[in-house]
Amino acid sequence: MQYRRLGRSGLQLSALSLGSWVTFKNQLDTRAASDLMKQAFDAGVNFFDNAEQYAGGESERIMGEALRALGLRRDSFTVSSKVFWGGVLPTQRGLSRKHIRDAADAALARLQVDYLDLFFCHRPDLDTPIEETVRAMGDLVRQGKVLYWGTSEWEADQIAEAAGIARALGIDPPTMEQPQYNLFVRHKVEREFVRLYDALGLGTTIWSPLASGILSGKYANGVPSGSRMTLPEYAWLRERLESPSGRAQVGQAGALARIAAELGATPSQLAIAWCLRNPRVSTVILGASSSAQLAENLAALAVLPRLCSEILERIEGIVGNAPTSAERF
Ligand code: NDP
Repeated sequence: MQYRRLGRSGLQLSALSLGSWVTFKNQLDTRAASDLMKQAFDAGVNFFDNAEQYAGGESERIMGEALRALGLRRDSFTVSSKVFWGGVLPTQRGLSRKHIRDAADAALARLQVDYLDLFFCHRPDLDTPIEETVRAMGDLVRQGKVLYWGTSEWEADQIAEAAGIARALGIDPPTMEQPQYNLFVRHKVEREFVRLYDALGLGTTIWSPLASGILSGKYANGVPSGSRMTLPEYAWLRERLESPSGRAQVGQAGALARIAAELGATPSQLAIAWCLRNPRVSTVILGASSSAQLAENLAALAVLPRLCSEILERIEGIVGNAPTSAERF
């Protein structure tokens, strides 16, 4: 395993980590989830990602039971939660001081830990002043309930505003952002956040490295039974897959698979290694519904040295979506 600092912080996360969205509860029961976490931990993974929203809190409950059953030392792993979608009541959602406090306490109880290593604002809340959110996160840090706080899918301006407020108030600024990043979605990580990396020391914990599985090549000949796109709760993902842009992505995944084969890698390994090649990525959060998938994906680190400039250029030729850099006058 390789370890990377979370932005400018001193925390070293495994370059590959494990998330539980969709899989825990929907596809994996407590036993299977626990086995997957053990497999990841034994391979050097030290970060497990979660959120209050995943399976309505059940994903955190399962992860908490797994952590307890595995008996992992608290100083040997990091775990996250995210606040925003905690329920249907107005007090159970968003980034108000009240919901942030309630969500943190509920996540601690479900995960059976005394503190969250990482705590994310899962989306920006346009109805709550950013200062209220920053102060609430600062309180959790002071109380020792959270070590590092950050954002997910915020805009660069919102992150910069939060950091400015935090600095003025003597509160820890956001340490990390959790954006989607993969061969199809690049703008935030490669363009929008560029000015934040050095200015704020921002780290990134990136999600959906396989674009929900499309980059594994598994959808080349239809939708395999048991795959994510067959789950009724995620019909919106399947609609996206079957849209013209989704079909184009499946075609591109096929072309990328041919490059992967030349490198002696699987398409998933190529796609994950491509995320890892970006030094601004602190950790790639893997999703896996089976032990075989996890083993395959963890081996992506070995593919990283094979991504020479010629291969990267050929990949660009297939996806054709590199963001332009800022204009210099
Ligand atoms: P991916 O894009 O990597 O998709 C993972 C899924 O792809 C697996 O569950 C599996 O689905 C399929 N898959 C994985 N490996 C293989 C393989 N080798 N061969 C074939 N199929 C494979 O990641 P996720 O979308 O799961 O995101 C990862 C994590 O990121 C989440 O668990 C969560 O922690 C975080 N996240 C954060 C978000 C945010 O808003 N902050 C949003 C989304 C995710 P299947 O077998 O069912 O087809």
